[in-house]
Amino acid sequence: MNSTQLKFIIFLLFIVTMNTNATAITDSKTISEQKPNLIIILTDDQGYKDVGFNGSTDIKTPHIDRIANEGTRFTNGYVSYPVCGPSRAGLLTGRYQDRFGFTSNPTMDPTITQNGIPTTEKNIAEVLKPAGYTSGIIGKWHMGTHPELRPNKRGFDYFYGFLSGGHQYFPEDLTLNDLDDVKYKYDWYRTRLLENEQRVDTDEYLTDELSHEAVNFIKRESDKPFFLYVAYNAPHTPLQASEKYLARYQHIKDKKRRTYAAMVSAVDDGVGHILATLKEQGIDDNTLVVFLSDNGGARNNASDNGELRGHKNDLFEGGVRVPFAARWPNRIPAGVDFHQPVSSLDILATIVVQAKVDISKNKALDGTDLMPYITNEKSGSPHDILFWRHVKSNYHAVRSGTDKLVQVKQNPMMFDLDKDFGESNNIAEKQIEKEGSMQKAYLQWESELQGAAFPYLGSWKKNRPKSQGKNNSNKKNKTKIKTKNQGTNQ
Ligand code: CA
Repeated sequence: MNSTQLKFIIFLLFIVTMNTNATAITDSKTISEQKPNLIIILTDDQGYKDVGFNGSTDIKTPHIDRIANEGTRFTNGYVSYPVCGPSRAGLLTGRYQDRFGFTSNPTMDPTITQNGIPTTEKNIAEVLKPAGYTSGIIGKWHMGTHPELRPNKRGFDYFYGFLSGGHQYFPEDLTLNDLDDVKYKYDWYRTRLLENEQRVDTDEYLTDELSHEAVNFIKRESDKPFFLYVAYNAPHTPLQASEKYLARYQHIKDKKRRTYAAMVSAVDDGVGHILATLKEQGIDDNTLVVFLSDNGGARNNASDNGELRGHKNDLFEGGVRVPFAARWPNRIPAGVDFHQPVSSLDILATIVVQAKVDISKNKALDGTDLMPYITNEKSGSPHDILFWRHVKSNYHAVRSGTDKLVQVKQNPMMFDLDKDFGESNNIAEKQIEKEGSMQKAYLQWESELQGAAFPYLGSWKKNRPKSQGKNNSNKKNKTKIKTKNQGTNQ
């Protein structure tokens, strides 16, 4: 090789290097300008105290705790209803669900077109789609069974899970092919899982199965903006756990609590896999992860709401204040507690601002962008006032500042949550003026709402005859404990 040839080769190498650098700069720019991903990890009927970050002593949740410890813990985080269906409708639309008549859990009857989020409302997937997002839901839908109301017709590009409000956890119990095979109430817990609109067979403990699919979705979609809604049905009844997780809690004597702890532990492992996948895919810094439960701990699943009064289905704090945390490296400060009230309604309001999505033609949201508050750009509370209405029980509640009004039928109660975390001291007689102004605000809000848009959950299919009840998933045996040596491969 003569010197001219050598110079030419060096020149070619220089050009190649320059091109590689240029590509790297372009990639880096693309990533930094890419809209943030959103992952909502929702658990079901998990108690306020049943995470390490809220002081659980018997259940270990190291991966869920990372979301709070590497992000912000919301000590006053609320959902908009104390039961699954309406709470999820509020979360997904960012609007109080009573505005569109989602006042109770919907019937499972697939012939009723009104039994979910009406098509006049937009959920997060539908709002983000025009901005270039791909959306997936893994797990529990519960927002309607009519073919036009299912996830793939409601903005979700991918669905892996089930339509019902709860489900059996072991694959061999998924014996019904479809809702057409349901003869009795709660047999919908036995339907095979859906992948988009196709029924599929599974071989894992359900929580592990859902975690795997969440990880697979992230790996598939990591090169463009996505919204992933991981809606675990754990730790909702039936109480069923595999030996892998039960083995961690042999020291808990109460069998229900032990099984519940194992179910939460399975979710925690799943959260660990999800967070690890974000890191592996190089999208950790650009992904907002929000963790919360859809309502407070239930009476029937051995959950623990700590000092909070009441449970699922109550408008006391135990029904609507939930474990709630958000993590977004480089954007949300790590290890910070936020004590002002926030709501599940805020998640949609936050992502549309952060992703610069135009919602000017959409219906007004009830939530608030939380980022300026979390980052201390704004002081004060994201909400002057929050409302809850429970039509079926003639029950309502209002929170303003640290004041809380709870009215059951005709009996108003007032509490100062700053001094009375457990709502044990009714100070209504001393707070007549404040109560009056909160009632007035409630009536104004209520005047904007609709009545029930669809029949109640239990109105479809009859109860199983008692003689057939013992080995089936009817309401009576929902708390039956089942364990099995499964799900050991994750
Ligand atoms: Ca629930």
